[in-house]
Amino acid sequence: MPSTLRDPTTGLERLALARLPTPLDEAPRLARALGIARLAIKREDMAGYALGGNKLRQLDFILAEALAAGADILITTAGSQSNFCRSLAGAAAKLGLGCHLHLRAAMGTEMVGNLLLDNLFGATVTFTAVTDPWDTAVADEMTAIAAGYAAQGRKPFIVQLTGVSAAVGVCGWMSGAAELMKDFEARGAVPDVMVAVCGSGLSLAGLALGFKHLGCRTRLLGISAQQPAPRLKAWISSTAGEASTLLDISTRLTEDDFDIIDSEIAPGYGKPSPASVAAVRLAGRTEGLVLDPVYTGKGMAGIVTALRTGVLQPHHSVVFLHSGGTPGLFTHADAFAGETFTGEAAA
Ligand SMILES: *Cc1c(COP(=O)(O)O)cnc(C)c1O
Repeated sequence: MPSTLRDPTTGLERLALARLPTPLDEAPRLARALGIARLAIKREDMAGYALGGNKLRQLDFILAEALAAGADILITTAGSQSNFCRSLAGAAAKLGLGCHLHLRAAMGTEMVGNLLLDNLFGATVTFTAVTDPWDTAVADEMTAIAAGYAAQGRKPFIVQLTGVSAAVGVCGWMSGAAELMKDFEARGAVPDVMVAVCGSGLSLAGLALGFKHLGCRTRLLGISAQQPAPRLKAWISSTAGEASTLLDISTRLTEDDFDIIDSEIAPGYGKPSPASVAAVRLAGRTEGLVLDPVYTGKGMAGIVTALRTGVLQPHHSVVFLHSGGTPGLFTHADAFAGETFTGEAAA
């Protein structure tokens, strides 16, 4: 069993599967093209194993708990092209644990992108008939799957970022906030705004709670890829509250502590937009930086929108969280076909 270490920010036990610290790279050509004073990219896509991404920090904490509980098989649910499921399957392979993914088929059952990687990492995949990501019926199905393994003498452990694992997941990104503050110190400048694209909002909850608790003045701006802003804001502050309770700290995140814009969701969660495709092309052309059109491309498109609406100002120094999601570029290659984009940068 791999040894755990104590995380100094949260005091929790963690694994060290992710390769940290991830780089913070200056992106001067992209900054100029976007029309902002300074831009750096936090390269969570380089977090080490299984093509990286923002779930690896959370897994270092969640899987320390799983190992402490004696788990030998990890079970979770999400969409069939979930970056989280692929990350969990990769971690399970590294730890020599079983992994059962119970997936919603809305993004297809074709063996491409993350689903191909799940298969390569040796995960068992089943599909649920539940289609609504917020339907709790799927939690009952996972409980039944876990009971089946337990009946065979296995030790199943259910991981669910928007459920049982949420508070610990927030702690993973609180620890990431401490790492970023060291990055800022080394860089000699604290950015005005940090931009992250949000699904559940778990990563942003951890970053915002961490910055508040540790006294960093950088303001978080979340670009929603999934949920309307009011629902996302409420979920972030209540889930950050669960983490405060878990850690027994008096710092509480309120809805005034961070900003959310939800202008980039269309045409829907997991679907590319013309603006996200243009943003992927812009990042590629200016920095050789690989984004995807359903998460980080929407985040970058959100920066363009925020500059237009005044939420971001040209004099701002910005850090963008590259949260991973690289397989999504290849699953959505058709969104880039048939046009030669010569688009000029946003003014
Ligand atoms: C999961 C994911 C997100 C969203 O993270 P949350 O913590 O759920 O808000 C953003 N980008 C990528 C690439 C992801 O895989």
